Amino acid sequence: MELKDLWKTVLGEIELQISRPNFITWLKYSELLEKNDREGVVLVGLPNNFAKEWVKNRYHKLILGSLRGLDGSVKHVEYTVTSTRAVGMPSVVARPTNTAPLTDEKSQLPITELKVDPVTNLNPRYTLDTFVVGSSNELASAAVHAIIKDVGKKYNPLFIYGGVGLGKTHLIQATGNAIHAKYRGRVRVFYVTSEKFINDVVWAVRNRRMEDTKKRYRDVDVLIIDDIQFIGGKPTTELEFFYTFNALYEHNKQIIISSDRPAAAIPTLEERLRSRFEGGMTADISFPDYEMRLAILKAKVQERGVVLEDSILKQVAAKVQKNTRELEGVLNKIIFLQQYKGGGVDSKKVDEVINEMVCVSAKNVTANDVIKTVAEFFEIPQSELINRNRKREVVEPRQIAMFLLRDVLKLSYPHIGEKLGKRDHTTAIHAYEKISKELNQNQVLNQKIMLIKERVYKS
Ligand code: ADP
Ligand code: MG
Repeated sequence: MELKDLWKTVLGEIELQISRPNFITWLKYSELLEKNDREGVVLVGLPNNFAKEWVKNRYHKLILGSLRGLDGSVKHVEYTVTSTRAVGMPSVVARPTNTAPLTDEKSQLPITELKVDPVTNLNPRYTLDTFVVGSSNELASAAVHAIIKDVGKKYNPLFIYGGVGLGKTHLIQATGNAIHAKYRGRVRVFYVTSEKFINDVVWAVRNRRMEDTKKRYRDVDVLIIDDIQFIGGKPTTELEFFYTFNALYEHNKQIIISSDRPAAAIPTLEERLRSRFEGGMTADISFPDYEMRLAILKAKVQERGVVLEDSILKQVAAKVQKNTRELEGVLNKIIFLQQYKGGGVDSKKVDEVINEMVCVSAKNVTANDVIKTVAEFFEIPQSELINRNRKREVVEPRQIAMFLLRDVLKLSYPHIGEKLGKRDHTTAIHAYEKISKELNQNQVLNQKIMLIKERVYKS
């Protein structure tokens, strides 16, 4: 129990510091397996060898730092592979294995989520019972309740949008779970993130398995697709999604979509897909107000089966305003401090926790931050990146910098060209398109970019 809470807090801290896809891919299904108090060694379990190597190489410092900050007796961290299905169930620890490096195509895809229902791909943790409804999500919530009652007939597609950490995934997954439970498998539900959809399509094209993939996505009654914004600008996938969408829609199958912004604000989304999305029901989720934040905190406390003073909850609700995930992160840390470290948590301590955890993600990133981070990542001087030279080793980094200035900061192409050595805007367009295209096919590039983004947000 104690180890679980310690690890939960560590993950809460790391989650705010690394990119969401990285967190989900590498750390979401990690566990703290053992702690040897005498030697200060802790053992972290990861679902497979790929994740183990990656986490060890990339996140060790972060993990060790966080663990030490929470528990001074920790000196070393070791990593092992847990047997595949063990995560979330009573821990069955496989001995450290010498699994051969994974080399086949499939292993390059993100690791499948382990706790999820294999048929629906839904995580049972998300339920409507634990979803607090208030003015910020009333419409979205009413829409899903109507859909649960009358699947496919009302509000099709349902398009839910809102900023990061405001409860989109929770709501749409909970809706899927509710439908699955209510209709007992007679209504087939399938949940997928757009990233997974993209990967599936890319994989199917490459391995000539498009028919299977098509069938899988079309043989459902309810398709829930999360974070659709990532699909924009990827023509093959977008087209495939368009066909899937039409096939389902024509048969009165229910489609539920989430996005971090309205369809009109996904710049690269094809017009015909956009108009499909706008043809159904659109509901937004905005920031919860104080009352709602307090209600969410109370619900989470109850869910965790712990007791915290009202004054503490009120203090957190008053100060953490931006995003529900942060609200939860702060709460987890407070619970941890109270339970694991013992001793009361006073309002001063609560303020400390808030300052420490909420600042990290509230950064304003500038163009110079991006350029600096890219240069540092590739270990080349910034001047090389900006110079007009065409040395091979700076070509890719420069293209990546251009890509990121567009992707992260939404700068105009002329502005990007200007920033990187007064180049023409067509160079910036070319760089952006080249990298976007390659991202689908090249896992190494993909990882580089994720890592750079992560550093940009952290810097
Ligand atoms: P998003 O998908 O919009 O980025 P999530 O659904 O992942 O956000 O929500 C982030 C966290 O906040 C989750 O742990 C979720 O359970 C919690 N959360 C968000 N909104 C609510 C709510 N209205 N009631 C209860 N928990 C919520
Ligand atoms: Mg989400």
